[in-house]
Amino acid sequence: MLITNGTVIDTDPQPRVLPGADVLVEDGTIVAVGPGLGVDPGAAEVVDATGRIVLPGFVDTHRHVWQSVIRSIAADATLGEYLGLILGRLAPAFRAEDVYAANLWGALEALNAGVTTVYDWSHIQLTPAHTDAAIDALRESGLRSVFAYAHPAGDDDARREDEVRRIASLGLPDLVTPALAAWGPVYGSIGAAEADWRLARELGLPISLHATGVGAVERLHESGLLGPDVMFVHGNGFTDEAMKLIADSGGVASVAPVVESQMGHGHPETGRFLGFGIPTGLGVDTVTDAPGDLFTVMRAAFAGERVRGGSLTTAEVLRMATAEGARVLGMEDRIGSLRPGKQADIIMLRADALNLAPVHDPIGAVVTCADTSNVDTVIVAGRIVKRAGRLVQADARRALDLASRTAARIAEAAQAPGAA
Ligand SMILES: [Zn+2]
Repeated sequence: MLITNGTVIDTDPQPRVLPGADVLVEDGTIVAVGPGLGVDPGAAEVVDATGRIVLPGFVDTHRHVWQSVIRSIAADATLGEYLGLILGRLAPAFRAEDVYAANLWGALEALNAGVTTVYDWSHIQLTPAHTDAAIDALRESGLRSVFAYAHPAGDDDARREDEVRRIASLGLPDLVTPALAAWGPVYGSIGAAEADWRLARELGLPISLHATGVGAVERLHESGLLGPDVMFVHGNGFTDEAMKLIADSGGVASVAPVVESQMGHGHPETGRFLGFGIPTGLGVDTVTDAPGDLFTVMRAAFAGERVRGGSLTTAEVLRMATAEGARVLGMEDRIGSLRPGKQADIIMLRADALNLAPVHDPIGAVVTCADTSNVDTVIVAGRIVKRAGRLVQADARRALDLASRTAARIAEAAQAPGAA
């Protein structure tokens, strides 16, 4: 496949613009980027990128994909209210088929917005059938994903080590890689965290946990659990000492600036993480009160840091949404930039749209002006999943039908007398 004559933005080592450039893809891999690659048009599928901005697909380092069917249901909620409604009342009503419908719809939502990789922090594993349904939907969607298994919520006895072992040995398809989403030590005990870290490290699974405030990083440090395989989500209010512990251990971070600002987690710590040299990606987190695209998240990160007096640039923000995100997921050898040898996860934005033209500074335009309506073409591992503004690989109508039915049932179940 030859993508021709686009305004190409690569992100490695720093974002830079290549006007009128081509991208050549072979067997799902980028093999060359530059002007006038001169490939025999008869030998390749030619994708004309004239009037398009071509860049690596966005990488979302933290999202709960199953919540797509309860979109905007808790728009005004604080974190405490969110936990009570979403995890306390709605989550228990999900059957396996609801998780399938929700993950399929949520994955298509991401692809439609040019998000080609999502870390799915999946805390809806009520039974093994729920787990299989979540993975099936991710696989069918064509999205690249990390499926991070979270034990069923509850006390430490709810942990399902057998399930984690099963997922690790499943032989998942190329586009889906397993990870462990840990409750402890913030939403679970330090004992559960110790057991999870032991299990994940035995199985070679990366670990991710939600943490804010004082104590979590310190407790993990005291237990000898910090390391380069640990991703901290949020981090609002971490002390400088905690930041330094993470940096020294090689740990990574995911900031979800929209949700953190709205739910009251505290000020997003984007600039502080970066200042301590911690690889930091961006995340949507939950669509129960935030949109599922990274344009909004990039703008929230940018504005949130600038209002604090920080000097974050649009180029740095774009890197967080692409190359840095890939590094946070340990996938920088495969995705996050257009460097030859990487997987062809590529998006094209219509630059002739009312909200983008005229494009004086392509990097600034993507971060400050672009939105999902500009996403014209989306390619994952060399496969076109969106073309001319429409999803072409998945049956979006069927997915909407399934999602709508699940949404109605969940809403009804949550109203029923005796609902948890
Ligand atoms: Zn989250």
